[in-house]
Amino acid sequence: MNETFRQELERLTGEDILFDEPLSRHTSIGVGGCADALVFPGNREQLHGLLSFLRREEIPCVPVGNWTNLIVRDGGVRGVVIGLKNMNASRLFQDPSGDLLLQAEAGASLSDLVNLSATEGLTGLEFCAGIPGSVGGAIIMNAGAYGREIKDALEELTLMDVRGMARTWPRGQLQFEYRHFVLPEKDAVILDATFRLSRSNKEIVKEKIADIRRMRKEKHPLEYRSAGSVFKNPQGQPAGKIIDELGLKGLQIGGAKVSEKHGNFIVNVGQAKARDILDLIRTIQDKVLREKGIHLEVEVITIGEDL
Ligand SMILES: Cc1cc2nc3c(=O)[nH]c(=O)nc-3n(C[C@H](O)[C@H](O)[C@H](O)COP(=O)(O)OP(=O)(O)OC[C@H]3O[C@@H](n4cnc5c(N)ncnc54)[C@H](O)[C@@H]3O)c2cc1C
Repeated sequence: MNETFRQELERLTGEDILFDEPLSRHTSIGVGGCADALVFPGNREQLHGLLSFLRREEIPCVPVGNWTNLIVRDGGVRGVVIGLKNMNASRLFQDPSGDLLLQAEAGASLSDLVNLSATEGLTGLEFCAGIPGSVGGAIIMNAGAYGREIKDALEELTLMDVRGMARTWPRGQLQFEYRHFVLPEKDAVILDATFRLSRSNKEIVKEKIADIRRMRKEKHPLEYRSAGSVFKNPQGQPAGKIIDELGLKGLQIGGAKVSEKHGNFIVNVGQAKARDILDLIRTIQDKVLREKGIHLEVEVITIGEDL
C-alpha cells in the first residue's frame, strides 16, 4: 500500500491504525499473515469516510469483530481489515408494549451483553454466555448454543453499504440459516443490532448464565487457542461425535491438533500455521466422507492469501 493511501487512511480514522500488522496477534486461534492495514474506526462518520474512500480507490476490505471465528491464511490480507472493536456502545430502552430493547453497536462483545442481562435481570440472551464473539460477528454467523440462535432475539439491525449509506432492517425482512446470515446488501457492514428482551428474576438469569459457563468449561478446550467449532453439525448430528467415532481426536498436523476434549475443535498447540489447520480440516473432511459418506461443511470463515 503506497504512502498516499496510508496517509489518507490515517487522516480518515485517526491514529488507531496498524500497517503490515501480523494478524496472528488478533485471531483467537493465533494464525494469520500480515494485513496491509488494520483500521479501527471509532464511529459511524469515520466508517462512512473509510468505506467511501476504499470504494473510490478500489481497495478491498473486510470487516471483523472479535476474530473468534476466523482463520487468516499465512500470506495475510491485501487491502484493509476494518476492526469494529471501538464501535461498542450499547443502551437499554423500553418499547410501548413494556418489553425492553437492547441496542448494541457491532463491536460490543456478547459477554458485555450477557453481563448486562445478568445485572439488569433480563432474559433472552443467556445462551450467548461463553460465546466470545462480537454482536456483528454473531449476526453474520447466526451464532447459537443450547437450542437458541442470535436471530431469535433480534428485533432489527442497521447495515452500512459499500457506499457508506446506513439502512435499518426489521427482523422480518432478514434471512437467517444455520450459522449463516444472508446479507441483504452485498459486502455491507453491520453497524448495530437491537434485541428484544424480557424482564426476569436477576437470580434466575445469573444462575442460567453460570450453568451455561460451567457446561462450556467442562466440554470445550478453553485452555488452548481455537476458533470454536470448526464444522457445522450435519443434519443435527454433532460433527464432534462423528470425528470422535472415527478416532480422529488427537490427530495433529504441525501445530494444529484435533482437541482430545472435543472432536469439533482444532486447537493451536504451539506455533500452528493456517496451512496446518487447513490441511487438518481437509484430512478430517476426506476421512469423514470416505468412511461415513457425510460431507462436513466448514463453519469457520477463512480469509486472506496463501503464502
Ligand atoms: C472458545 C470458542 C467457543 C465458541 N462457541 C461458539 C458457540 O457456542 N456458538 C457459536 O455460534 N459460535 C461459537 N464460537 C465461534 C464465534 O465466537 C462466533 O461465531 C462469534 O459469533 C463470532 O464473532 P466474532 O466477532 O468473533 O466474528 P469474527 O470472527 O470477527 O468474524 C466472523 C465473520 O463475521 C464477519 N463480520 C464480523 N463483524 C462484522 C460486521 N460488523 N459486519 C459485517 N461482517 C462482520 C467477518 O468478516 C467474518 O466473516 C466460539 C468460538 C470460540 C473461540
